[in-house]
Amino acid sequence: LTILGIESSCDDTAAAVLRVEDGLPSILSSVVHGQAELHEAYGGVVPEIAARAHAEKLDICVKKALTQANVTLSALDAVAVTAGPGLIGGVLSGVMCAKGITVATGLPLIGVNHLAGHALTPRLTDLIAYPYLMLLVSGGHCQFLIVHGCEEFTRLGGTIDDAPGEAFDKTARLLGLPQPGGPHVEQEAKQGDPTRFRFPRPLLDRPGCDMSFSGLKTALLRARDTLIAAQGGLTRRDRADLCAGFQAAVADVLAEKTRRALGVYLAEAPPMPMFAVAGGVAANSAIRASLETVCAAEGAGFVAPPLALCTDNAAMIAYAGAELFAAGHRDDLTLAARPRWPLDRSSPALIGGGK
Ligand code: ATP
Ligand code: FE
Repeated sequence: LTILGIESSCDDTAAAVLRVEDGLPSILSSVVHGQAELHEAYGGVVPEIAARAHAEKLDICVKKALTQANVTLSALDAVAVTAGPGLIGGVLSGVMCAKGITVATGLPLIGVNHLAGHALTPRLTDLIAYPYLMLLVSGGHCQFLIVHGCEEFTRLGGTIDDAPGEAFDKTARLLGLPQPGGPHVEQEAKQGDPTRFRFPRPLLDRPGCDMSFSGLKTALLRARDTLIAAQGGLTRRDRADLCAGFQAAVADVLAEKTRRALGVYLAEAPPMPMFAVAGGVAANSAIRASLETVCAAEGAGFVAPPLALCTDNAAMIAYAGAELFAAGHRDDLTLAARPRWPLDRSSPALIGGGK
């Protein structure tokens, strides 16, 4: 099976060609065209600008992906496209592009949930078996999912306010570090003392897997302002200690909630217990290490896909499309672009925390 994937739900225009042979996926090409410089001046993604840029770049990305994979449209078996959730203008651009290709070629069309793309990535990269526990932790999302199949997810909990990546970015902003803040805060934290500032670990006193990260930045702001008021500014040491204290709080919350989520997951007695983490924040080595420690203690394997496949890309969409295709799923020209699209059918009201 050779499948084209298309992704345009946020600020990356992406196309990829994936081949699955005897159940083994291989990425023939994966083109990602970011839009960071277009949105830089506005301090966030501007939906109208994003939609226009996607519409301009989709054709180019698709052509590039086909060329790099050394295949023509006639060599494809299907076209998979992100049909939501995301910024509606961008999702629409992608869906229109995919429909155009399927109308011209007669290829089957498959609409993919962007979050399912992220959630299935550990199968693409590490071939892990269902059911596994997944923590999706990025700039826009933070949730635990038990992944039972390509269309079957159970959400165990997630952030009730900010996503951790967002908290890292805000922390960086408060301390005058560049954006995206995650890697810079991590760098600073390496030189810092995590015990000097004791930041709150919200919701740890409550049962369940829900998390909260917005209070952390308020605590950090207060600690920063207290230092500035007392000494007129921040020393390098202060900055490093603030970053280390912040990062330790995030790592502690994620680790403890992961332990609880593993408890729920392991109660199902999965034959091969596996925990996978994905999303930009999974790049943080301190957070990754504390999650790995929890998994080892609880008896679950630990998987973290390479960063390029953890952040937005079209290879994951092609892969999710390939699984859906194999399961007999097909869409037609009525496929709609959906701004919201909960993964977990049983509790739609709970989904989308942090976005
Ligand atoms: P989504 O794809 O869920 O809509 P997104 O595009 O913002 O959201 P990603 O691209 O997966 O998310 O991740 C980007 C986020 O990851 C940013 O908030 C960034 O600060 C954070 N991040 C990247 N590297 C690190 C790191 N080393 N430590 C902590 N956070 C990091
Ligand atoms: Fe994403």
